[in-house]
Amino acid sequence: MDHIENDSEYTGLTVNSGVTQPPVVNPYMKQRRRRTLPSASELVEGILKGDMTTLSRAVTLVESLSPDHQAVAQEVIEKCLPYSGNSRRIGITGVPGAGKSTSIDVFGLHVLRDGGKLAVLAIDPSSERTKGSILGDKTRMEKLAVHPDAFIRPSPSAGSLGGVARKTRETIVLCEAAGYDNIFVETVGVGQSETAVHSMVDFFLLIQLAGTGDELQGIKRGIMEMADGIVINKADGDNIDRATLAQAQFRSALHLFPPTTSGWIPEVLCYSGYYELGIPEVWEMIDRYFKFVKENGYFERKRQQQARYWMFETIDEQLKAHFYNNPDVEAMLRDREQRVLSNTQSSFTAARDVLDFYFSGKNSKF
Ligand code: GDP
Repeated sequence: MDHIENDSEYTGLTVNSGVTQPPVVNPYMKQRRRRTLPSASELVEGILKGDMTTLSRAVTLVESLSPDHQAVAQEVIEKCLPYSGNSRRIGITGVPGAGKSTSIDVFGLHVLRDGGKLAVLAIDPSSERTKGSILGDKTRMEKLAVHPDAFIRPSPSAGSLGGVARKTRETIVLCEAAGYDNIFVETVGVGQSETAVHSMVDFFLLIQLAGTGDELQGIKRGIMEMADGIVINKADGDNIDRATLAQAQFRSALHLFPPTTSGWIPEVLCYSGYYELGIPEVWEMIDRYFKFVKENGYFERKRQQQARYWMFETIDEQLKAHFYNNPDVEAMLRDREQRVLSNTQSSFTAARDVLDFYFSGKNSKF
């Protein structure tokens, strides 16, 4: 290419190639740039003041796998516990496309109309695979994302479903201590994650769509049985009749289920998240539920049972992690697995070998 600078007559400014810089100017730079870990009491102070940035930082520590972060996080949770519990915890589930994000956006604005604060959390079992969570993403909830009293947090992405769910449960404690009096926990209605969500919420809302024929097809019976309310979305335009038909079908299907332990009879309603129709009615149902279970004592009982459930879940999870993360156990497992696969040892004796070794205490400590 003919650059004007290459002309012998050229008298303007020229650009020299300069001196190559070493890749790192200051070898200590990286170390110095690292953010110092805030102390548990600093975090708790910020959380109790309702500071959203501090809350976010604390949640990041809860989600972290680093033992240092976990130590601070556990201390923060412990200190926040006395200030937690004062919220309505609502689980929201539905298959992808059911309209969860659209609905959460309008439901959220509806509850915030009466004041208070709302946290939207998520449990996304696919997030480990997709390396990034879709649920609870701010971009999906446009109005809430810019609301000063809404805290939106996507699903923690690392670990087993049990581990992810435990982190969400711990995050609920922090949000409540920060004054969030409505907590939505969103999940995709396709797998086991509903059980996890069900074990941490007071009310479980199932969002359904009116299909083209057999409305009950493809819905796991277990999920329907867990629901305290079934709401049929997209009851707008040409879809109203189909939604009303689906409503009748769900109602009669619910009759076949055994009575709920709460004594509450699950309701089925139609609404439109997109056109914002029937939203107050959905919330009136939820209000009725809370009034009902608070009066009959079920609310407290369920929370106690949930607390016990999470104690055992945490023990299970930590025991498993202690076993499977042990390097000697890992090596032995690989060996016994091969023997089982090549039919040279039975599954049971192979399992017993590894367990005996683990319980003998001869394995390396860590
Ligand atoms: P999600 O995957 O469950 O979070 O579902 P989305 O909220 O993303 O909604 C899926 C699609 O359904 C989007 O294209 C929405 O615009 C549409 N949608 C959501 N709610 C309604 C509704 O009430 N009526 C109609 N007609 N469309 C809706």
